[in-house]
Amino acid sequence: MIPADPILAHVRPRQPAIVALIKELVECESPTDAPAAVNRAMDLIATAAAPFARCKTVPGGKFGKHLLCEMQLPGRRKSGQVLALGHGDTVWPMGTLRAMPFREADGRLWGPGVLDMKAGIAFFLFAVQTLRDLEIAVPHKVLLQVNSEEELGSESSRALTEKNAARSHAVLVLEPGTGLGGKLKTARKGVGDFNVTVRGKASHAGVDFESGASAIVELARQIERIAGFVDLKRGITVNPGVISGGTRSNVIAAEATAEVDIRIRRLKDAAVLERKFRSLRPIDRRCTIEVTGGLNRPPMERTAGIVRLFRIAKGLGRELGIELEESLTGGGSDGNFTAAMGVPTLDGLGAVGEGAHAANESILVNRIADRTALLAKLLAAPLASD
Ligand SMILES: [Zn+2]
Repeated sequence: MIPADPILAHVRPRQPAIVALIKELVECESPTDAPAAVNRAMDLIATAAAPFARCKTVPGGKFGKHLLCEMQLPGRRKSGQVLALGHGDTVWPMGTLRAMPFREADGRLWGPGVLDMKAGIAFFLFAVQTLRDLEIAVPHKVLLQVNSEEELGSESSRALTEKNAARSHAVLVLEPGTGLGGKLKTARKGVGDFNVTVRGKASHAGVDFESGASAIVELARQIERIAGFVDLKRGITVNPGVISGGTRSNVIAAEATAEVDIRIRRLKDAAVLERKFRSLRPIDRRCTIEVTGGLNRPPMERTAGIVRLFRIAKGLGRELGIELEESLTGGGSDGNFTAAMGVPTLDGLGAVGEGAHAANESILVNRIADRTALLAKLLAAPLASD
């Protein structure tokens, strides 16, 4: 039996308060496309942080507002900054709570957004509170940024994230860990979207068949080619996830579109894929092909700086009796942006659970205290790389 870590010992009796904050956040539904609802969730977070942080909001355009909180932490000499990144939006539409209410059962907390990523934000706030309670000096400024539209690609918050990351020597991302072991994330695939639109020539399918050029038939042929861009060994996946087109079964389709999700492990593969998409040529010369889109989030590649952060976390985890592991995930986060800038970024520091974006979304209650303690220890650790 490992002697109780003082930070963990301080967090454990506060677990009911952590659960209460998670409940409050989950019960405030905040789908990305409902800005007023996201704003309410941001207000809850700001209220919870208010006793120990200076918070302000930044307009999110058509999305909800982004939240910035500068933490007031013990320690007089501070050099540099650590950025903690989260998002307040979820993928769940308003009203999901009726079918999927917040509840505690079977050693887990359940509810929309509990894992991705409301619990992570609650853990972070209690980690800060713990450092204050125990008067543990923190050698750098700590800024929390909570974005309002991560689940829709972070187009509004990206510049803000990059600005704050540029001033930071490390970024800690409060997204959930991988799997029920809660592995940290030291690499993420890059994510992009291509829209492939085929235009053909409409005609009557019975009266004038031969003068038509079917956009649907042409698109189907192109999709075969696109599926061939997959290279699992290199970590390249290509998924035509949505197709649409045509008007009626007795009309030769004038137009058809495929929306294609792409994932890459290495940044240089973005240009390779881009070239492949742009060089798609119609098999039926009467059709035209238009390709739009590209990479949205660059991959988070496992740099030396990221490995260094992971090793620090691993050492701190041992003090908590936890053997932390690392993982590569195909999902993107705002950590992709900061890592691509070369700022050491450690991701997956939030809750341990399963079912992000799924009906079984839940977190493990018995991993609340150690994850909160790990965040507190990381914030207090010297994370600058000199
Ligand atoms: Zn997330």
